[in-house]
Amino acid sequence: MKHVAEALEQANVGKVWVEEPLAKHTTWRIGGPADLMIQPTDKEALIRAVQIIHQHEIPWTVIGRGSNLLVRDGGIRGAVFKVAQGLSHCEFQGETVCVGAGYSMVRLAVEAGKQGLTGLEFAGGIPGSVGGAVYMNAGAHGSDLSRILTSAEILFNDGETKIVSKEEMQFSYRTSLLQKRKGIVIEATLQLQTGDRREIAKSLAKFKDRRLSTQPFNSPCAGSVFRNPPGDHAGRLIEASGLKGFTIGGAQISEMHANFIVNRGGATATDVLTLIEYARATVQKNFNVDLHTEVLVIGEG
Ligand SMILES: Cc1cc2nc3c(=O)[nH]c(=O)nc-3n(C[C@H](O)[C@H](O)[C@H](O)COP(=O)(O)OP(=O)(O)OC[C@H]3O[C@@H](n4cnc5c(N)ncnc54)[C@H](O)[C@@H]3O)c2cc1C
Repeated sequence: MKHVAEALEQANVGKVWVEEPLAKHTTWRIGGPADLMIQPTDKEALIRAVQIIHQHEIPWTVIGRGSNLLVRDGGIRGAVFKVAQGLSHCEFQGETVCVGAGYSMVRLAVEAGKQGLTGLEFAGGIPGSVGGAVYMNAGAHGSDLSRILTSAEILFNDGETKIVSKEEMQFSYRTSLLQKRKGIVIEATLQLQTGDRREIAKSLAKFKDRRLSTQPFNSPCAGSVFRNPPGDHAGRLIEASGLKGFTIGGAQISEMHANFIVNRGGATATDVLTLIEYARATVQKNFNVDLHTEVLVIGEG
């Protein structure tokens, strides 16, 4: 991979790492090494980097801020594009905002509030990137990205860059087109509404307080581990199964919120996966409900 890394560096695509531990790039602080990792500075750098990776016929994966990812202990073969820090422009024009995929959702919610624009308050506690939020249709407090997105610019695996409309994005609960068709979000265009600055700030503060009192924000974690089953909450089912605090290796079902697994120090992906399977089997046995993970598991065991 060293010769590919050199070619990428010569093409001035941004930061390039070889054998980079993903544990440094996920909020769980877990994950084996990526053969090659690239953090493109901007759209042009990303396109150049993708071309080089395609020329060398190397498989690729994209990550944002790693806040919804469990990377297995064997790491990721091929190249990982880290679309965070770079591609982080943000332009407000009236009630519309065009924002780079690497921009932080938390920062975006705060910036929109400062502009007196409402619609992004739900995102004030979602520690991911805009690109990750588009991929996941991230949401909270009864709203999600699909409510405000009008279009996204996406670089597809065939090398084509396209503006994809909200309808074409096929959003539903924590899903989007990108889970069926491989691509990299470059930019999103969002439609907000003029609101009252003080009311927006109040909502952001209220949601923040609620999170701080119900979620283990200070421990390495990846948000909700399981999707909520129809008409119920995964956290309620796990808690009712008596699993709060249950620990395997360094991974623990949070004492604070049963749908969170925290890394208590030195947890491996294998610890987390074993705990996930245990919680799933216990809930299945107790309630006959099949839980599915919201966190995405990638890489090799
Ligand atoms: C404490 C905490 C609280 C959370 N609360 C919530 C919540 O309330 N609601 C919620 O929905 N989520 C929540 N999450 C989960 C997570 O923040 C979201 O899913 C977020 O949208 C993931 O963004 P990311 O940049 O971290 O993506 P990553 O975790 O890096 O990646 C997630 C997926 O998105 C894809 N992806 C990332 N960037 C791009 C891109 N540019 N182009 C194409 N695909 C891309 C990746 O390939 C991967 O499949 C929480 C997480 C934590 C740690």
